[in-house]
Amino acid sequence: MSVTLDLAHGVRAPAAIQPNLTGLSRPQLAAALVDAGVVKPEKARMRATQIWRWIHHYGVTDWSAMTDVAKETRAALAQAFTLARPEVVERQVSKDGTRKWLIRTAPGIEIETVYIPDVGRAGALCVSSQVGCTLNCTFCHTGTQPLVRNLTAAEIVAQVQVARDDLGEWPSPKEDRRLSNIVFMGMGEPLYNLDNVAAAIDVIADNEGIAISRRRITVSTSGVVPELAALSERTQAMLAISLHATNDELREKLVPLNRKYPIAELMAAIRAFPGLSNAKRVTFEYVMLKGVNDSAADAKALVKLVQGIPSKINLIPFNPWPGSPYECSDWKTIEAFAAVLNKAGYASPIRTPRGRDILAACGQLKSESEKVRASVRRAQAKAAQA
Ligand code: SAH
Ligand code: SF4
Repeated sequence: MSVTLDLAHGVRAPAAIQPNLTGLSRPQLAAALVDAGVVKPEKARMRATQIWRWIHHYGVTDWSAMTDVAKETRAALAQAFTLARPEVVERQVSKDGTRKWLIRTAPGIEIETVYIPDVGRAGALCVSSQVGCTLNCTFCHTGTQPLVRNLTAAEIVAQVQVARDDLGEWPSPKEDRRLSNIVFMGMGEPLYNLDNVAAAIDVIADNEGIAISRRRITVSTSGVVPELAALSERTQAMLAISLHATNDELREKLVPLNRKYPIAELMAAIRAFPGLSNAKRVTFEYVMLKGVNDSAADAKALVKLVQGIPSKINLIPFNPWPGSPYECSDWKTIEAFAAVLNKAGYASPIRTPRGRDILAACGQLKSESEKVRASVRRAQAKAAQA
């Protein structure tokens, strides 16, 4: 028996923790069924495939919906496991149709997830990989929130499920999807949580489930050089690099990780990224900061830096947040910058800001979650019990 601590509501009554099956691979799912004594080892693979389809293709959250599973087995499953979605604490819809959810997956763990219509093939979901971030890029709101923790694979997959629930996209449609692309551009640095990001991508990309192809899944990184090869090998996802500056002096100010992995090292690792071709390009993200990195000379330096790499360039107008120390470049400046890129062969590189009115645009995400020290947690639990 265990006690769960809910910071919002004090100490809950002792509750048996039921594992959620959402983040497991198929073999892990089969093993969990056997370990719980619900399924015999010889039937495990077949049962796991059946249950997998119910969870990830049909999106069911209720065991009783699994009509081709025997009633007694369903009852045993319901005893052992849960399929419940995390709680959606807040839902906001922007005037441009962007939707943002604040999802609480555990006491004190709040995640922001954003759906942006008309991006990618049909619409993109921007998912978070961490609550907070260990890095402190000076233009990023998430960077002001210290890391609370890495998200589990289940918590990453749950963001897609919550969005699908809201968009009414179950069972997984083969065509005419509203959610066609996934971008790891929410809260956190995905390459500092690669195990869980890779496990989540395995679930999301599985053809008998959510079935979003790896080519429509993009992982954005601030430049964690030693993990780039592993990212390619383990996920085959598309790569986006948050570049933002073309010389080390400036990039160090904007993306402090540059001190550890300077531009030359980063570019060498990108050039070595397996599988890059004109059909599979890396995206360079470049935030437009007024008077900081937005001159015509900067644009030319950018073209030179990425020369020879099969790439797209994405200019992101800076999205302000309360207390942010920068301003967005003027529209004319952004257009002039884009014109230099256009001339060099990069088509339509400006990313239209979306969902700014609900603080859902790139780099505006931040939840109230704070890391609570274990000692404080124990004291809170004691106080609540008294
Ligand atoms: N940590 C990863 C992914 C999350 S950030 C990374 O840094 O790449 C997703 C993108 O939004 C990154 O390119 C990031 O640099 C950019 N970004 C952060 N803050 C921003 C802001 N205020 N305005 C515009 N883009 C921002
Ligand atoms: Fe972290 Fe990315 Fe924000 Fe930098 S831009 S602080 S790496 S989330």
